[in-house]
Amino acid sequence: MNDFQALMVRKVEQGTAAAVETVPRADLPPGDVLVAVEYSSLNYKDALAVTGKARVIRKFPMIAGIDLAGEVLESSAQEFSPGDKVVVTGCGLGEELWGGFAQLASLPCSALTRLPDAMSTEQAMRLGTAGFTAMLSILALERHGLEANQEVLVTGAGGGVGGLSIALLSALGHRPVAVTGRSEDDEYFAKLGAVSVLPRSEVEKDAGRPLASARWRAAIDTVGGRTLAGLLAGMTEGGVVAACGMAGGGDLPTTVYPFIIRGVTLAGIDSLRCPRPLRQLAWDRLTQVTPWQCIEPMFRTLALADVIPASQRLLAGEIRGRIVVKIV
Ligand code: NDP
Repeated sequence: MNDFQALMVRKVEQGTAAAVETVPRADLPPGDVLVAVEYSSLNYKDALAVTGKARVIRKFPMIAGIDLAGEVLESSAQEFSPGDKVVVTGCGLGEELWGGFAQLASLPCSALTRLPDAMSTEQAMRLGTAGFTAMLSILALERHGLEANQEVLVTGAGGGVGGLSIALLSALGHRPVAVTGRSEDDEYFAKLGAVSVLPRSEVEKDAGRPLASARWRAAIDTVGGRTLAGLLAGMTEGGVVAACGMAGGGDLPTTVYPFIIRGVTLAGIDSLRCPRPLRQLAWDRLTQVTPWQCIEPMFRTLALADVIPASQRLLAGEIRGRIVVKIV
């Protein structure tokens, strides 16, 4: 393949502009491993990068896409050989390294994780950064004493990280509660494994209060802002919140009381710079526990050409679940 198709974001006078372009292979940056990308996925961060709504991209021009899964074509690294199936999430992909919305990617081997044999490249991108982050959040809750059959609140439940967190928690025998701003989606959340649905307003009403009645023992928060503040106020003694997102805002109007009166733990989740052993552990665990059939209602597959309009719809809150991008 001499030329390849890619969704390129360029700096222009008014900000940035994104378009699917034909890129000469000779323009690929040097890397240890050349990957034929088979699938990518569309995340909240990708939508911000593609639309230029936030400063996600660090170098221009940039091929967007923070996720990819594909097959190694060439490798100068000992760990990988042609034919290996690999997955990359984060690691600067689509921010500093040319990303996953492309037919080819040239990457440092430190960014790559070998896909377990039992997971296809399409399945890997059904999960993508969202599923990986959901698993990192669950691993953090486990490190902080998540007990068997525990109730766990999941905010931003209609989104990718939220939906996959619900399904994974349910598959692990816990009782996830979907916290959402959407009405009329109860059936969807029940199919994913939620035991009940709580309107986001129920959590947010306690934002800003030092403490509210102690109701929740564990939570995964993808929303931030008033939602996270309300969650913290309502946690029980020794409760833990894995904070991974900010879809509702980056501020946190809270006090120290949940931490010093109830011993609440706020565990931060960073999927981007996650160390390699933890990456492999998370992907191995995802391979073992992902309930593929039950998450089926979450997905829709689009082509590269559909990514720009889908990004606008995602930021407008019009997309529920996950978008897989078929590259080949
Ligand atoms: P999605 O767009 O798929 O879902 C976001 C969800 O958040 C929406 O479905 C909605 O939930 C809720 N939401 C959206 N806008 C608002 C708002 N203004 N106020 C309150 N809630 C809102 O995003 P992802 O699931 O891909 O990502 C979720 C968050 O996690 C993002 O902030 C993302 O940047 C972050 N993230 C962080 C990672 C890390 O490493 N820490 C990795 C991956 C993602 P509902 O429909 O239920 O109302």
